[in-house]
Formats: sequence, C-alpha cells, structure tokens
Amino acid sequence: MDVENIYKEAEALLEGHFILSSGNHSNRYLQSAKVLEDPKRAKLLADALAKMIQESGIEVETICAPALGGILAGYELARSLGVRSIFVERKEGGMELRRGFQVKKDEKILICEDIITTGGSAMEASKIIEELGANVVAFASLANRGFCKRDGSTSQSKPECKLPCDTPFFALDDFTFEMYTPQECPMCKEGSIAIKPGSRNN
Ligand code: ZN
Repeated sequence: MDVENIYKEAEALLEGHFILSSGNHSNRYLQSAKVLEDPKRAKLLADALAKMIQESGIEVETICAPALGGILAGYELARSLGVRSIFVERKEGGMELRRGFQVKKDEKILICEDIITTGGSAMEASKIIEELGANVVAFASLANRGFCKRDGSTSQSKPECKLPCDTPFFALDDFTFEMYTPQECPMCKEGSIAIKPGSRNN
C-alpha cells in the first residue's frame, strides 16, 4: 500500500513552503484531515491499520482518540476492529472524558490519532484513561512524523518522542520532513514567503 501516494492524491501531503506548528519551516506539510474527507479512503487506511494491530495479537476493547484531530481516525479504526470508540477532549490544563463516556477498570484501550508528531496529545489522553483505571495497551496513528518509532520500523525514536518505549505504536507510514528554523530556511533566503496551512485562506 503506497500510503504517501494516497496522501498526495487526497491533497493531504502538500509541497511548497510552510510554517509547521513548531514554528519551523518545511517544504512539505501534512494536512491530515484531508485524507479522511473521503470515507472510502478513510476506510481503506483504517482497515490497513486494523490489520497491523490484529496481526500483532494485541487485544483491544476500546479505541480512545484525543479530540478533535483523532476522532475520525479513531472511529474508523474502531469500526474496522469491531470495538467501541470514545474520545477525550481538551480542558484547561489537560484532557477529560465527558459526554457520558466511561471506561471500566483494566479495560484494554488503544489511543488513536490521525497523526503522531511527538505524541504529546496521545500521552495526555493516555494519562487521563489510566487515571480512570483502564489500561493503555497501544498507540496508533495513520501517519507518523518520524519522531517516534513505529512497530516494525528499524529507525529509533528521537529524543522529542513522548510515547513510552514499552508500549507498541502502530502507524501506516513515516513522513519525515526536512525542517529549518526561520533564520536558516533556504526557501526564505531565496525570498519566498512561508504560509501556515489550515489558517484562514490557506
Ligand atoms: Zn522559510
């Protein structure tokens, strides 16, 4: 499965001159929501991710996604695995489980995102789920920005990765970009103006 090409076809992998959420500049940008715009494409990706998880033998009872970005990916993955789907959402200082969602003691939960960069939001979701007594058995995302080592990859996690190294992390593919500080950016030096995708008019 050519995941990168699927993202390109969906206009979810952009090429140009971009400001990343870190403030660094890159010639590539992942607009993750775009790949889930087509439900057939979303199903194709979620089915492939579900297959990896099933083949690992890990037992999952519930998928939990951090809102907003993870909800669609989490829901599609849950449908593919035939399990329950819940989400946590941000409040001041952390995440919380609201809307009547509950978890049982020792329930086996997989935290799912559309994209994992350093895993910060996924870890916040994991923290609240474990505080409620359930058990986080794995992490998953459709795309991995290459900071965290995904299951089956030979590359190692970078120091920025916040996911625990003793819990499996499944992702369809690594999307590793060249990044520059604004001062060092070669595109800026050529006079090009960086844009922030997803903001108004971009
Ligand atoms: Zn630049």
